[in-house]
Amino acid sequence: MSRVYNFSAGPAVLPEEVLKSAAEEMLDYNGSGMSVMEMSHRGKVFQEIIDTAEADLRELMNIPDNYKVLFLQGGASQQFAMIPMNLMKNKVADYIVTGQWAKKAAAEAAKYGKVNKIASSEDKTFSYIPDCSDLTISEDADYVYICENNTIYGTKFKALPNTKGKILVADVSSCFLSEPVDVSKYGVIYGGVQKNIGPAGVVIVIIREDLITEDVLPGTPTMLMYKTHADENSLYNTPPSYGIYICGKVFKWLKNMGGLEAVKARNENKAKLLYDFLDQSKLFKGTVEPKDRSLMNVPFITGNAELDEKFVKEAKAARLENLKGHRSVGGMRASIYNAMPYEGVEALVAFMKKFEEENL
Ligand code: PMP
Repeated sequence: MSRVYNFSAGPAVLPEEVLKSAAEEMLDYNGSGMSVMEMSHRGKVFQEIIDTAEADLRELMNIPDNYKVLFLQGGASQQFAMIPMNLMKNKVADYIVTGQWAKKAAAEAAKYGKVNKIASSEDKTFSYIPDCSDLTISEDADYVYICENNTIYGTKFKALPNTKGKILVADVSSCFLSEPVDVSKYGVIYGGVQKNIGPAGVVIVIIREDLITEDVLPGTPTMLMYKTHADENSLYNTPPSYGIYICGKVFKWLKNMGGLEAVKARNENKAKLLYDFLDQSKLFKGTVEPKDRSLMNVPFITGNAELDEKFVKEAKAARLENLKGHRSVGGMRASIYNAMPYEGVEALVAFMKKFEEENL
């Protein structure tokens, strides 16, 4: 067996400990005589898995009691519709557009009501986060929407927007559990787990209880109502049970690491190594406004598309995989999620140094 350093933006690297433990339990989970993917989601064994996963997540994120945790399906993209269907009582929402995912979410919401784009960074290819400390918030807005970490462009909100009392909804797909958050500042926090937490197929939604109502847009399918899932503790229908089990293992792994403060310190260390190198490099250049840099996704370029392609190819040969930038922007991108070890970033920086010497 020989694993590579995998810099994929998602699905992405998972902790080796988690994968090994899942492999050990594959044929016989905890004396049950079967794999978790073979067991009933209505049985006692699975109930304990999902209950423990939720309790560990609540502890990690310090989730207040008046918030529900939902384990759903449909990808983060399904939330682009579920959010307006469930929250757009006045049929108005404010969107801050800092990348393709926020743009897609805004376009989807526009099918259901009026979407006001109250800020955007599209003028500079989404390379920064606009100042959101004093935006004009629509008086009748049902919520203000952000994508907190922009996977493609490598930007992150370092301060939450001032929503002037309106509900904040945040897509945290690519920064989930990468640092502590104050859940009470949000109405809804959600993300696909396939970047920082587990296998594709699970979406976690953390939602304030008073936002879970039957008063949804007419025609909203049963499966797309938060209430359906909240009332049944994510067991209205068959949940993505194996994925939830792996998420639970990752929550334990994060708790053993010392919780989200410790995780943040580790992530800052890893990101610093790469950003410090980029800042002094004569060949490579980061593409993001330094104050808005993500700890998770680090895009960079040489300024020469052919050289970028050569870099990605040679890096792959050196077992540094998935460094090609998103197809919409080109260049390179290193995603250094929680499970990427420090040694992985060291190996990348060493390779970049060597490449720079050979190609400058
Ligand atoms: N939001 C963000 C921030 C993402 O990075 C992605 C996926 N790359 C999505 C939403 C869409 O996720 P999904 O493929 O699970 O629908």
